[in-house]
Amino acid sequence: MAIQHSNIEKLFINGEWIEAEQVSPLQSPYSGELLAEIPVATVKDVKNAIAAAEAARKKLRNMAAHERAAILERISAIFAERADEAAEIIAKESAKPITTAKGEVARTILTYKFAAEEAKRIYGETLPMDAAPGGENRFAYTIREPIGVIAAITPFNFPMNLVAHKVGPAIAAGNPVVLKPASQTPLSAIFLAKVAEEAGMPKGALNVVTGRGSVIGDALVTDDRVKMVTFTGSPAVGIGLRNKAGLKRVTLELGSNSAVIIDEGVTLTPTLISRCITGAFSNQGQVCISVQRVYVHVSQYDEFVSKFVEQTKQLTLGDPLDPNTDVSALISANDVDRAKRWIDDAVTSGALVAVGGEIIGNMLQPTVLLNVKNDVKISCQEVFAPVVIINKISSVEEAVALVNDSAYGLQAGIFTNNIHVAMDAAEDLEVGGVLINDIPTYRVDHMPYGGVKNSGFGREGLKYAIEEMTEMKLVIINRNK
Ligand code: NAP
Repeated sequence: MAIQHSNIEKLFINGEWIEAEQVSPLQSPYSGELLAEIPVATVKDVKNAIAAAEAARKKLRNMAAHERAAILERISAIFAERADEAAEIIAKESAKPITTAKGEVARTILTYKFAAEEAKRIYGETLPMDAAPGGENRFAYTIREPIGVIAAITPFNFPMNLVAHKVGPAIAAGNPVVLKPASQTPLSAIFLAKVAEEAGMPKGALNVVTGRGSVIGDALVTDDRVKMVTFTGSPAVGIGLRNKAGLKRVTLELGSNSAVIIDEGVTLTPTLISRCITGAFSNQGQVCISVQRVYVHVSQYDEFVSKFVEQTKQLTLGDPLDPNTDVSALISANDVDRAKRWIDDAVTSGALVAVGGEIIGNMLQPTVLLNVKNDVKISCQEVFAPVVIINKISSVEEAVALVNDSAYGLQAGIFTNNIHVAMDAAEDLEVGGVLINDIPTYRVDHMPYGGVKNSGFGREGLKYAIEEMTEMKLVIINRNK
């Protein structure tokens, strides 16, 4: 397409806006419209960003907690003032429907607010040294020290709030950051850099380098000055990166094929159905805890399918900037083709398409598949598209076994009227979080969040991320009495 007039963005390194040697066009996934020219960082730019972060380390480490908190409070306040602008950026660059994008901005405001509050609550403890012979007359305490330069690598699907989940706790704990956002969503990160600059972030405390992860990723992950890599994205990239990170601390927030179980006797209210619809199709299913599999007790199956399909048909497809849009374009044409191929493979192996399955432009219709075999890709891998499978189960035990028969384990949900069934499921499900009487697609930003198996390790949620981003130090005073 013809290059139209657009903004030429810059790298943010050491508090300066740096022109890149090369820029690359950023287009809307929905319309193909040119949104901006994005700097393509070189390895040298990344090294400069790490050097700037390293140079800022001491200043940040010595900054009082109330000062770090004040910067984060100001970031939160500026996001609140510029919320509409922020939501529009998300909607344009990622095709997230605007109402959902506004929800993400509201969460981002809270995430920085929580980070500001947690900055003032980084505690250690005192130890009863005399519990051991030889510990008499010694006074000991622990403190939590900032770990050092943090490389934050983020995905496209929550380009403001998942960045906030890394930058917020890092600054709260006194660590400088080099942020590498996803190539399709750099504008949200550049917007944050502008907000942070206005909020008084010290030079070098936050650096934003844009460019392809496959080209500049290694420079971030293998540099000795970087003490921690915090990554949210796909398992393939996360596992590769972990293998290169050596002894650096690494947290990985990866994907899943999350499931919800509907036990017998549960009343299938419009609210329950619409929660499941939200879980399956919000942001076109491009949510790491999207409902990809629904296991419904045989006694409720027909009623659930009919109600679910009916509500799915009511969803509006279209322009992400239209407030009436529920489902818009997937992040790339490749992802549309991949999801369609997986649907076709499932059908070839006996699945039924109850609704959807067709491509319209870069959009895939919200799709419901029935009777899907457990070993087809659409069931056992992460589809990251508006596709959900609904299968019959004859007991919760059977469903729990199916949920656990997965390479992933992020969150799972179960609707049941029986407290014992709920508590057994909470015990038996191999995931990082269990939602009772709710869908797995639930997160508020201060809760501990993360997975097991190929869904990663380490926890986010401000307090928990701060634990990952600090080192415990022990101090022992011999009172020589
Ligand atoms: P992705 O392709 O893995 O990309 C994530 C980030 O990694 C991007 O910034 C990407 O840069 C970068 N990257 C790619 N190759 C790299 C390399 N060799 N070295 C270093 N960095 C590299 O994931 P995505 O498609 O953006 O996001 C979707 C995935 O994220 C899904 O699997 C989803 O489940 C997961 N996710 C997990 C959570 C959670 O909290 N558990 C939350 C949201 C999303 P480029 O864009 O330049 O390639």
